[in-house]
Amino acid sequence: MPSVLACINTLCASSFSIDEVIYTCPRCGALVEYRDEGLSLDPHQSAKLWRARRMSNLPVDQSGVWRFRELLAFANPETDRIVTLREGNTPLLDAPRAAAYAGLDSLTFKHQGFNPTGSFKDNGMTAGSTVGLRLGMKRVACVSTGNTSASMAAYAAAAGMTPIIFLPHGNISYGKLAQALEYGALTLQVEANFDQILALVRVLADELGIYLLNSVNPFRIEGQKTIMVEMMDQLDWRLPDWVVVPGGNLGNISAFGKAFRELKAMGFVERLPRFAVVQAEGSAPFSDYFRDRGEFQPVTSPETLATAIRIGDPVSWPKAIDAVDSSSGVVCKVSEQEIADAKAVVGQCGIGCEPASAATLAGLKQLVASGQVDKSAAVVAVLTGNVLKDPDYIFKYHTGQLKTPAGALLNSTFGNAPVVVPNEPGRIADIINQRT
Ligand SMILES: *Cc1c(COP(=O)(O)O)cnc(C)c1O
Ligand SMILES: [Zn+2]
Repeated sequence: MPSVLACINTLCASSFSIDEVIYTCPRCGALVEYRDEGLSLDPHQSAKLWRARRMSNLPVDQSGVWRFRELLAFANPETDRIVTLREGNTPLLDAPRAAAYAGLDSLTFKHQGFNPTGSFKDNGMTAGSTVGLRLGMKRVACVSTGNTSASMAAYAAAAGMTPIIFLPHGNISYGKLAQALEYGALTLQVEANFDQILALVRVLADELGIYLLNSVNPFRIEGQKTIMVEMMDQLDWRLPDWVVVPGGNLGNISAFGKAFRELKAMGFVERLPRFAVVQAEGSAPFSDYFRDRGEFQPVTSPETLATAIRIGDPVSWPKAIDAVDSSSGVVCKVSEQEIADAKAVVGQCGIGCEPASAATLAGLKQLVASGQVDKSAAVVAVLTGNVLKDPDYIFKYHTGQLKTPAGALLNSTFGNAPVVVPNEPGRIADIINQRT
C-alpha cells in the first residue's frame, strides 16, 4: 500500500496523495496524518541498522531524524534532496539533583535544546522542509514569534527556499526572532491577532503557492516522531515507565504517541510508556479537558512567561487526546512560580533549559507528591529548548525581578544574583569564603 495523507476523522476516512499540498482534510476539515500502512520492519534488524548508522559519515546517517528513515518513507534519500543540519542526536542526561527535587530516585532528561537552532522544532522542520523542496516550493511560511520561526528560517535557508515569517504586531520575543533575522527570513509584522493572521496566511499561501510549515503540517509530526525512536535506541530498547513533555500546540505529544503506536504495531515494543503532559496554568485547555472530559474548550487569552507553551487553542488536540489515553497517561498544569523554580533546578544540574521545558520537572514534582508517579519509576523528561533562548527571564529570576504576566513578583527561591564587590582583595577573599 502506498503511503498517504489520511484524514484522522474516522467518519470521513478520506486519504490523499502525499504529493498534494494539504494541511487539513479538504473534505471535512479535520487534521490529516501521514500513514504508511504497508510498512513492516524487523525490530531486531532495524535496531541494529539504526545503531550502525551512527558510525557513518553520510549526512542522512548523521541526522538523528533521517537515521530512522524507514519510518519516514515520504522522502527517499536516493531521489529527494534531504534538508538536514544534523538535527536530533540529542543526549540523555542523568540529573540526580532534579530527581531529588521532584522526589524521584532518578531522572533522565532528553535534551532537545542540543538541536541546531536550539529546540525540538528542528526534528520536525527537517522533514517539513524536505517535503517543501520535493513539492517544488520556492517559499515557506509560518506564523510564530518563537522557536518555529527560528527553526523554519534556518532550514529554509539551508534548502535555498525563502522563509517568510508572520508576527502579530507588537508581540515580539527578541531572543528567538533574532535567529530568524540572522537566517534571512522575510519578517512581516501584521496589525492583527494570531488567529486573524493564521487565516490570512492560509489564503495567501494558497494564492501564492507558499508552503506552510505551521504546527498543522503533518510532516513536521513525522520528524518529531523520531525523538522517541532515538530515545529507545539510547535506552537499548528498555521502555521507561513515564515520558514527560510540556504541551503547547500539542504537536510533540501527538508525534510521541504516533511513534509508539507504530513501534508497537511492528513489535519493537510491547506497550507504550505512560505519557505525562504538563501545561502552564494560564494556558491549560488540554489539562482542563482531562479534568472535566467535556467539550474541548480553547482558552481565549492564554498567559504564561513560558512563551513556547502560551497557546490557547492548540491545533493538535484531537491527536494528543488519543496519545494520552492510549498510554494511560496524565495531564497536569503548573504555576509560574513552579516553572521558574524548576527551571533554576535544571540549571543547578549544569543542564539548563528554557522556561517551557522546565514545566516537565515542575509537573513531575506535583505528580510524585500526589502519588500518580511512583518515586522509583523510570522517567524520561523531554527538555524542549535551550537555556539561551530566554536570557532575560533568567536574569530577572536570579535578581528577584521576575513578574507574572499579571504583574505579581515571583519569589527568587533559588536566586543567584551577581555580587558587586569593592576592589579590595581582602574583602573579596572574605566574600568568596563566606559564599562557597
Ligand atoms: C514548541 C515548543 C513547545 C510546545 O510544543 P507543542 O508541540 O506545541 O506542544 C514546548 N517547548 C518548546 C521549547 C517549544 O519550542
Ligand atoms: Zn476528512
